[in-house]
Amino acid sequence: MNGLMMNMPLLIKNIAHHAERLHGDREIVSITADGAKHRYTFKDSMMRARKVSTTLDNLGISKFGRVGTLAWNSYKHLELYYGVSCSERVLHTINPRLFEEQLVYIINHAADEVIFFEAMFSNLVSKLILQCPNVRYLVCLDKFDQNNGRHLDQAMDYEMLINDSEEGLWEDFSEETASGLCYTSGTTGNPKGVLYSHRSTVLHSYAVCLPDSAALSAVDSVLTVVPMFHVNAWGYPYAALMAGSKLVFPGHLLGDPKTLVDLIESEDITTAGGVPTVWHGLLSYLKQNKKKLDSLNRTVIGGSACPPSMIKEFREVHDVRVLHGWGMTEMSPIGLINQDKDKTKNLSGDAFLSQALKQGRPIPGVEIKIIDENGNDLPWNGIDVGNLLVRGPWVCRSYYEEDVEASFDNGWFDTGDIASVDTNGYVLITDRAKDIIKSGGEWISSIELENIANSHPDIEQSAVIGVHHPKWEERPILVAVRKKGAIKNLEKELLDWFQDKVAKWWIPDKVIFIEQLPLTATGKVSKLALRAKYSQANEIL
Ligand code: ADP
Repeated sequence: MNGLMMNMPLLIKNIAHHAERLHGDREIVSITADGAKHRYTFKDSMMRARKVSTTLDNLGISKFGRVGTLAWNSYKHLELYYGVSCSERVLHTINPRLFEEQLVYIINHAADEVIFFEAMFSNLVSKLILQCPNVRYLVCLDKFDQNNGRHLDQAMDYEMLINDSEEGLWEDFSEETASGLCYTSGTTGNPKGVLYSHRSTVLHSYAVCLPDSAALSAVDSVLTVVPMFHVNAWGYPYAALMAGSKLVFPGHLLGDPKTLVDLIESEDITTAGGVPTVWHGLLSYLKQNKKKLDSLNRTVIGGSACPPSMIKEFREVHDVRVLHGWGMTEMSPIGLINQDKDKTKNLSGDAFLSQALKQGRPIPGVEIKIIDENGNDLPWNGIDVGNLLVRGPWVCRSYYEEDVEASFDNGWFDTGDIASVDTNGYVLITDRAKDIIKSGGEWISSIELENIANSHPDIEQSAVIGVHHPKWEERPILVAVRKKGAIKNLEKELLDWFQDKVAKWWIPDKVIFIEQLPLTATGKVSKLALRAKYSQANEIL
């Protein structure tokens, strides 16, 4: 027997309608390309988003047609988020930090019909356009200078197109319809496309707003630090409109600590989300300038492991609660968030830190399990470590036009991460399978070693990689960035620092000091680059 409730499709346009009706005067603030501040309301934004839909109709962009964007976090990008998806087309957010050949690959693979780009990407676009025959139109989001890019004579002006368009009507259609496309960064092989649907996006937005998740609400002011070209800025552009939170976009300055701190102060930011590398820069800036974060009460940190030293500094110096989170492009992206349970809420000191450094428990809707190499379920005891598998309505079930089934096993997605789960359901990620270090047949957690190294007062940042060893197969080495004024004999001091904190055979064999850790296109430390450079390091041990 079926239930007798209304069968309303879960569509992104319903988020937009709700935002306009209930929070129409809520502000959206953006830093523009020239560094100025632009502000308008949810109502203004959605009105222009409907004009984007008509613009796409006028250009003859097909139903389900892919619309590429090369843009930072801004109000215009938000207009595209809604205007493209709500008119039954697919928003393909393109990560400009990828290599040129990867960009050509994904634009052609997605068969983008039009690309909306910011003028600062003109040179890049002029190189790409010659290699991407499907792209029929180019639209520049800001004042376009013909001198900026060759082969771009035909680029159209976004404002002119919008001004010439009526507000389109957003019709109903199936909630399964594709809404967005985001490619993984392709550290191994070609990037793979993750195709979100309206249904997955709406359900994920509800999940982001839950109190034991990122808990967005109508009294929040949200700073989006994660780029809108990477996994929909963790879903904030949808969740904030659903909740009625003020939305603040740092534009192209999303990695600039001064801009972020200025925005936090001037726009009364209560919450934000970003990868550890960005927060690292922000905390150093605050320290140097003797500033405190008054309005911010919590921040979601994820994308790679958040060092406990960062959680501690946020808590002790700024009274900000770090909500460690974990997710993937394939999961829209949020899967785990570390919010308290009754039994963890009063922890302090080391007990607090060892709880807070866990990546969290699954948000409702996401199911997880850990398995051993034979596929057997492992118990949730905080000790057994295995491959982490997930499933849920916002987890991808296959890649876009790709024949890779390896990651999908009987309705579960193999995340490629290695984890343990404690009796309360909190997950601790110990490594990425491809980063794991196996020494003498036993696993060593690089994340645990990095956390210890990062807690040393003279260490700015660090990464642990495995290098080939003739006897032990692999051994860990530590690559680290020193703080200014660090002591002279830091290598010995650091290796001593590990004594009594981990088993002897876990202690790295060597420390290599470098000026800066290499980053991936999504702002994470690139272990691939480190391995390529230091894979022979054991020969100098
Ligand atoms: P890419 O790194 O290729 O851009 P994603 O952004 O989807 O792809 O990254 C997902 C991966 O990032 C996860 O599988 C996991 O390895 C890592 N990750 C995400 N959050 C965390 C976290 N809090 N701690 C440790 N690893 C994390």
